[in-house]
Amino acid sequence: MKLDRLTSEERMKRFYSGEKIDRVPFISSATMYAGNLMELSSEEFYFDVEKSYNAQKWVIDMHCCDGNPCLDIPNGEVLDFGGELIIRGNNCVKLPIVNHPIKNIKDAVNYKLPDVKSWEFLKKKIEFAKYASKKGISGVSITAGSSFTFVGSMVEMTQLLKWVRKEPELVEYLIGIAEEYILKSADIMIKEFGVENCSVSSNYPFENNAILSPKMFEKISMPSILRVHEKLREKGLKSFGMHLCGNHNKNLELFRDINLEEGSFISLDERNDLSMVRKILGDKYIYAGNVPSNLLVEGSPEEVYRASVEAIKIMKDNKHGFILMPSCDLPINTKPTNLFAMLKACREEGEYIYRKKL
Ligand SMILES: [Zn+2]
Repeated sequence: MKLDRLTSEERMKRFYSGEKIDRVPFISSATMYAGNLMELSSEEFYFDVEKSYNAQKWVIDMHCCDGNPCLDIPNGEVLDFGGELIIRGNNCVKLPIVNHPIKNIKDAVNYKLPDVKSWEFLKKKIEFAKYASKKGISGVSITAGSSFTFVGSMVEMTQLLKWVRKEPELVEYLIGIAEEYILKSADIMIKEFGVENCSVSSNYPFENNAILSPKMFEKISMPSILRVHEKLREKGLKSFGMHLCGNHNKNLELFRDINLEEGSFISLDERNDLSMVRKILGDKYIYAGNVPSNLLVEGSPEEVYRASVEAIKIMKDNKHGFILMPSCDLPINTKPTNLFAMLKACREEGEYIYRKKL
């Protein structure tokens, strides 16, 4: 197998500044997977910043991944919304169970955003970013929601979808509260770390075509997405990214309207057709994705290798580059050999050849 001509640090620095690199980068998003491999408990992985960071760093180095450790508490914003995360797993990392703060219409009508002082998730984010900065990592990520997805953290999904049809004004009210949370969080992060060190990322699991029709997406969620992006730009933020979680094939033209800055980062779930994304969203973005989660858990290394090569072939020559990544959060029980298959594909089929040496 070919070896790398650049270190990960060199590769990613060059990649983000648009310079030539040796091969397609590989980011594993190994968060909970790393906690498990390093034998942490859920409590340790989610809330002990030092242990979580170092577990991820060991695994990033072991698998020769690009990218940095990050705080990963699934549905963490629930803590800031006044809900609860029930933590399971004493000897391993397991997904928490969510206890939403809003159970019924009365709760929703009376719902107010809890005081900033009680925002445990945001505090943890700041603590993690400060620890990472001590370790030499300077970038900090600010969330742009989406607001609708955050409403899905305030109230259980099936209930929310009923309200989308029957109580649209109530949903609109909750979206407003989610916006308030996003913008206040952004102000706090900017004050803490400086606007030049902050980038914005957003995630759209509840807007995917299997949950919300494109029409409802445009009506319910899109106005808030546009408002939030506009307000974040006004705050001086310049670097944006998004993860299209689930199937967004019918939403792509709407996403194009957000008009993210050239060079923004878009990661794609396996249900999004890479060729179509490239065609509709164009060549002004960095794309990343989208090795299927199921394959990473149950597939053979050969199958993962083939899926990785397929994605690389479609995206490798994209103007702003392509990063091979798992489709979504890396499943906790991914086979280590399958992560190796992704690296192998980048090294063997993702190589960039230049006349002059790097
Ligand atoms: Zn996803």
